[in-house]
Amino acid sequence: MDYQNSLAFAQEQDRQDPLHHFRERFYFPQVNKQDAIYFCGNSLGLQPKSAQMYIDNEMYKWANLAVEGHFKGEEPWVTYHELLAGGAARVVGAKESEVVIMNQLTVNLHLMLVSFYRPQGKRFKIMVEGGAFPSDQYALETQTKFHGYNPDEAIIEIFPREGEHTLRTEDILQSIQEHGEELALVMMGGINYYTGQVFDMEAITKAGHEVGALVGFDLAHAAGNVLLRLHDWDVDFAVWCTYKYLNSGPGGTSGVFVHERFGKDPSVLRFAGWWGHNAKERFLMEKGFKPMEGAPGWQVSNGQILPMAVHRASLELFDQAGMENLRQKSERLTGYLEYLIDAVPVGKDVIEMITPRDPQARGCQLSLLVKRNARQLFDKLMESGIIVDYREPNVIRVAPTPLYNSYEEVYRFSEILHECLEGC
Ligand SMILES: *Cc1c(COP(=O)(O)O)cnc(C)c1O
Repeated sequence: MDYQNSLAFAQEQDRQDPLHHFRERFYFPQVNKQDAIYFCGNSLGLQPKSAQMYIDNEMYKWANLAVEGHFKGEEPWVTYHELLAGGAARVVGAKESEVVIMNQLTVNLHLMLVSFYRPQGKRFKIMVEGGAFPSDQYALETQTKFHGYNPDEAIIEIFPREGEHTLRTEDILQSIQEHGEELALVMMGGINYYTGQVFDMEAITKAGHEVGALVGFDLAHAAGNVLLRLHDWDVDFAVWCTYKYLNSGPGGTSGVFVHERFGKDPSVLRFAGWWGHNAKERFLMEKGFKPMEGAPGWQVSNGQILPMAVHRASLELFDQAGMENLRQKSERLTGYLEYLIDAVPVGKDVIEMITPRDPQARGCQLSLLVKRNARQLFDKLMESGIIVDYREPNVIRVAPTPLYNSYEEVYRFSEILHECLEGC
């Protein structure tokens, strides 16, 4: 790559960056009375300035129309989820009918497992990456118990080889083949939250299907970060949150993908509620659940309009920027971060990058394993106005996002990292 280790170079990259102005559409937190360098979009994305207006609109409707807001006006609440489907579908590479925005992530994961983890006979196991996000681990553990299995038997975790931090695709595929007839489900993160590794979702889906298993992904760290083609990859289901890279607010709403082959089949079992019922008959309040077609047929409760309004503001920005443009910038921005970290003289002895070096095998996040005084380094970075996050026992995750971060921020981060490391 043609990177240079200078502020002038970084500033020139920003001048040439067609997405640079999107920064102005966000609020930055203040540290020492200045905009922080915010590399924590992997945990909670920044607030789009437009979010307030979208919320205000709904508050206004509530104040002025009250219950009639469900049906009156141009954007009635009963169909509010439909306003989000297009933008969300473009982010994850799906048909509009395959996506619905509802609930929160782990709740949606459970709803999907109810439909798509259907153990039978000797086919009762779930394969997952070792060290998956705890909420996913707990969901799988309790789902297997719910079906009467011992989680230690029913859950197969795959770990990296001795001395390696990330999984090799060949090992994942081989493991799927080995466990073939026992596998009911392959359920993995699209990107592992700790290492930042992107899994080859297309190859994993294909391998899972070949042995007769279903395949789903938790895209919490992938949605809005890397290019996804859920429909074309033939993924069975996926879930994601909207408050990380999708900037839709703390505890924000969540997305669900259900492949159309299931969405068109009303016999697929699910835990239902009135909002997934055939919309034309919903208010007849009759017995007998008849699901809507597509992913909306998995809705349970009436839509949470305020979090959805925030998500709408955010999805609009993604549509304006375009996922492909964002990903292009992201590879370059994170590549610059990698180049600068490698160039910090004392860095090599102290920092080991556990995120894959191959840009195709990672998103925007780099995970730095810090070999001594990790917590101290983290605290110093934070005091210096850099917001990153810390994951026990000794990993600092640094995630410059293409929508609101700049090359200059990446450069300034490396300068401050350099200073902090010298003092450690
Ligand atoms: C962030 C994250 C969660 C959080 O779950 P919530 O239900 O939104 O609290 C779950 N799983 C993964 C993989 C995550 O990265």
